[in-house]
Amino acid sequence: MQFLAEELEAMKQGGLYGTIRTLESPQGAWVTIEGRKVLNLCSNNYLGLCNHPRVVAKTKEYVDRFGVGPGAVRTIAGTMSPHLELERKLAAFKGAEAAILVQSGFCANLATIPTLAPAAEDRIFSDALNHASIIDACKLSKAPVVRYAHSDMDDLKAKLEEHRDAPGRKLLVTDGVFSMDGDVARLPEIVELCEAHGVILVVDDAHGEGVLGRGGRGIVDHFGLHGRVDVEVGTLSKAFGVMGGIAAGSAVLVDYLRQKARPNLFSSALTIPDVAANLAAVEILEESDELVTRLWDNGRFLKKELSALGFDTGHSETPITPVILGEASDAKTFSAKLFEAGIFATAIVFPTVPRGTARIRVMVSAAHSREDLRFAVDTFASVGREMGLLR
Ligand SMILES: *Cc1c(COP(=O)(O)O)cnc(C)c1O
Repeated sequence: MQFLAEELEAMKQGGLYGTIRTLESPQGAWVTIEGRKVLNLCSNNYLGLCNHPRVVAKTKEYVDRFGVGPGAVRTIAGTMSPHLELERKLAAFKGAEAAILVQSGFCANLATIPTLAPAAEDRIFSDALNHASIIDACKLSKAPVVRYAHSDMDDLKAKLEEHRDAPGRKLLVTDGVFSMDGDVARLPEIVELCEAHGVILVVDDAHGEGVLGRGGRGIVDHFGLHGRVDVEVGTLSKAFGVMGGIAAGSAVLVDYLRQKARPNLFSSALTIPDVAANLAAVEILEESDELVTRLWDNGRFLKKELSALGFDTGHSETPITPVILGEASDAKTFSAKLFEAGIFATAIVFPTVPRGTARIRVMVSAAHSREDLRFAVDTFASVGREMGLLR
């Protein structure tokens, strides 16, 4: 077991060992870490729902009525009426015929990709920057994975042509919003290519749900592609502020996944508090787009101010705001100095992003006030100057 300590030491030497901080307060715009209140700029709590009073109240109500644990996998005795209530609500919210709820976004990819394209004669086309859970889900299939260059439609087209005579099923999977850069998949073109080549299309909309589309209805709504994307995979752990994953699509697709998807058959159902909290989150989103609008306003403000200072904020099309610094050691030092100054923003380094593109990924939330964001901009400016990264 000596390799454990050796590899950890090598990670420390290379600046790739991550400091994992502990929150001593609820998730929110400000959090308590090591006894200090710091401005939180790195959670996925896009809409501030993690600790929203309505979400908390609904959770308590459902726990009183239904208890906590589901006691079994969905297919044996773990399906409870709140699970179905949430599935119906999520399908209606997204404008899909049906949806299946699983334990997480990670599990939603495991439930979908190897289930729909399991065999060696199948082919899985995958964007080079897809999320790790997609990469792992692909490994559970015997199908070869055909990686195409990130959002490169010419490369995708060439690869589809190259494999046109493959005997089995073809499936394409892409992130909707690429989480480290904030750019959006070229879905209208991908849909056309998939339709022309008879390819099943799966979009993982983890960072698009509650963010893109009308009132946060997601990437399919954003592009008006209802009925043309076979599977919308999603997470309830980001904008929804809770935990859980979904796959939405046709009724027959969802029926198939219920019978065949291994996370549904071999891992217990989502707990009642999770389900109840998600119900409240969808209700809040259905009633008003206020939080989504505030999120985008905050994102635009921060991006404009940080790039005006001279930071490289990449090519994000969403509220995700990368501040690309390059070397892992610079990103780590930057993050440590921000923390000293009262800002919690983790450095993101290889292997989460390619080498040489280490960054602070700034995540704004509807929970941030304009004053919070001004404090963030001023602090980034002073740390940037102190480190000689800005003139
Ligand atoms: C965060 C993320 C996931 C994982 O979602 P969880 O619900 O946290 O498991 C899956 N796919 C993408 C693209 C993500 O960004």
